[in-house]
Amino acid sequence: MADSGLPHRPKPEETPEAGAQAAPAATGEGAPAAPSKNALKKAAKEKAKAEKAAQRAAQQQAQQQAAQEAVDTAKGLYGRLPDSEDLAPVTNFSQLSEEHYEKEVTVVARVDNARSQSAKLAFLMLRQQGQKVQAVIAAAEPISRQMVKWAGGINVNSIVQVTGIVKKPAVPVSSATLSELEIHIRKIYIIAEAAQQLPMQVKDAERPPPLSDIVEDGTQVDAEGAPIVTLKTRLDNRVLDLQTETSQAITWISSGVAELFTEYMLKSGARWIFTSKLTGSSSEGGSEVFEIKYFKRKAYLAQSPQLYKQMCIAGDMGSVFEVGPVFRAEDSNTHRHLTEFTGLDFEKTFRHHYHEVLEFAEQLLVFILTQLKERYKEQIAIIQKSYPKAGDFKLPKDGKALRLNYMDGIALLKEAGVDVSEQERFENDLTTAMEKQLGQIIREKYDTDFYVLDKFPTAVRPFYTKPDPENPTFSNSYDFFMRGEEIMSGAQRINDVKELEESMIKKGVDPKSEGFEDYLAAFRQGCPPHAGGGLGLNRIVMFFLGLPNIRLATLFPRDPQRLRP
Ligand code: ATP
Repeated sequence: MADSGLPHRPKPEETPEAGAQAAPAATGEGAPAAPSKNALKKAAKEKAKAEKAAQRAAQQQAQQQAAQEAVDTAKGLYGRLPDSEDLAPVTNFSQLSEEHYEKEVTVVARVDNARSQSAKLAFLMLRQQGQKVQAVIAAAEPISRQMVKWAGGINVNSIVQVTGIVKKPAVPVSSATLSELEIHIRKIYIIAEAAQQLPMQVKDAERPPPLSDIVEDGTQVDAEGAPIVTLKTRLDNRVLDLQTETSQAITWISSGVAELFTEYMLKSGARWIFTSKLTGSSSEGGSEVFEIKYFKRKAYLAQSPQLYKQMCIAGDMGSVFEVGPVFRAEDSNTHRHLTEFTGLDFEKTFRHHYHEVLEFAEQLLVFILTQLKERYKEQIAIIQKSYPKAGDFKLPKDGKALRLNYMDGIALLKEAGVDVSEQERFENDLTTAMEKQLGQIIREKYDTDFYVLDKFPTAVRPFYTKPDPENPTFSNSYDFFMRGEEIMSGAQRINDVKELEESMIKKGVDPKSEGFEDYLAAFRQGCPPHAGGGLGLNRIVMFFLGLPNIRLATLFPRDPQRLRP
C-alpha cells in the first residue's frame, strides 16, 4: 500500500504492456533507426534457444527431485502429521526414566531448539511444560539425509510428535532437565508449526528479569551477549513466558494455594459460595471502586465479597468461603498491588470469642504453607534456581502461628529506633516500610516468616469491624503477614444493627445510601456473631516464593498501566 493511503497504481514498467508502451515511436525526431531484418532473425533464434535451455534445465531439476524422492528411504517418517498416523500412546516427560532405555516411546512436545550438526546429524531440544529432553536424528537407513535436514530446520516452538528409542547419552545432556536420557528419532511429525520469527525466545525468558523494569523497557544484553528479557516484554508476550520452566512451576504453586485453601475449608464443613461481582453500589464505601456502565445506570465491580459473605451468614449458612476476582481502582504502581487479584475469602460464626475464628485462620495458613512445601517440592526447587535470594520460607517450628498484638509490634519497632509516634496516637496504620522492618525483626527474633498481628486500632479499620468491648480504642481485628508484607486482613464483624449504623456514621458512611439497605436489612432480622478474613492469592504465592513482583505470580496481570494480554 502506498504511503499516501491511496490505492497502489502500478508503475509503467509493472504493466504487462509496459514494453510496448515504453518503446519509442519508430517515426519522428530523435527515434533510433529500425533494426535490420537479419538482426531481428538472430535475436528471435537466440530467444528460442534460451527458452529451450531453460525448459531442459527445469525438466532435469524435476527429474532429479523425483529421483531423490524415490530414494528418500524416510518417506512417510516425517513431515506434517498424516491423518493415517496411528495415535500411538504418548509418554509424558515426567514419566520418562532409565527404565525406558532401549525402548520406543512417542512424545508430543515443543521444539525448544533445533540445529543441524552436519548433513547426517541434527539435535533437537524438546520441551514439555518447562521440562526438556534432547532428541537426536542421524542419517542411517531408513533415516535419510533429507529427513535429517528437515528435522534440523523445524521452526523453534513448533509442536511435534516424535517416536524414537530412548538411550543413555555418552555424556549427560547438561542443558536438558532429563540429562540422563535422549531420544533417537525414528519418526517426527509437525502437529502445529510456529512462526519463523517469535517476539521473544522462551529460552531467553528462562533467566529472571532485571529487577528495575516494572515500568520501563529496553533491549539489554547480559555479559555473555544473551538478550535480557525485561518484565514488560515477558508480560506483553505472556503466552511464551508461561512456557518457561519457572513460570510453569509458579502457576502450579498458584493452583496449589487455591487447592489447599478449598481443601481446608471444605474439610472444616464450610460451604463454597459464589457472590456477584456486579454491584449497584461500592461495597465498602471509599473511592477504590471501578464504575461501569450498566444499561441506563451505573454499576460497580466488587472490591471484595465482604458484605455478601456477611449476608450469607445472616442467611444461616454458618461457614462460607469463596475464591474469586477482586477489583481495586487504586492507582498503586507497586511491586504488590494489582487492580484485579484473586481473593480467598471466608466468614464463619463463633460461639464465645472471635479468637475461635482467628485460630481457625492461623491453622489454615499453617496448613497451606506446610502442604505447599510438601506437595510442591519440585516446583519450589525450580523457582529457587531463578529466585534464590529470598531463601526458604520459614514456618514456625512448633507448627503454631506466632501471634502478637499490634502494640507489641509497635514496641518492637520503637526498640529498633523507628519513629512510631503517629501509630502510637492511633492515627495511622503501619506503613509498608514499617511492616517490612517488623518482618525482619520478627524473623531474627522468632525465626519465622509468617506471623499475625491482632488488635488493630479501631480508627484504622473499616466500619464493619467490631471494637474490643473492653477497650474500644482497639478492635477485634487482625492482619496476617508473610516476609513482612500483608497477605490477609480480617476481623470480628459488628452483628448488631444499631451498633453497625452508628459505626457507619462515625466512619462517614451514610447508612441510608444506596446499596446499604439490603446489607442492613440482613442484620435487622438477626445475625449471629461472626468473623472472617480476606486473603490475596497472588500475594501468598509471591511472598511464599520470595518473588520480587506480584505480576510474576499472576497469569495475566492487571495494573494501572496494563490491560493486556
Ligand atoms: P494494602 O494495605 O497492602 O494495600 P489492603 O489493606 O488494602 O492491602 P485488604 O483490603 O485488607 O488489603 O485486602 C485483603 C487482602 O487482599 C490483602 O491482605 C492482600 O493479600 C490482598 N490485596 C489487597 N489489595 C490488593 C491489591 N491491590 N493487589 C493484590 N492483592 C491485594
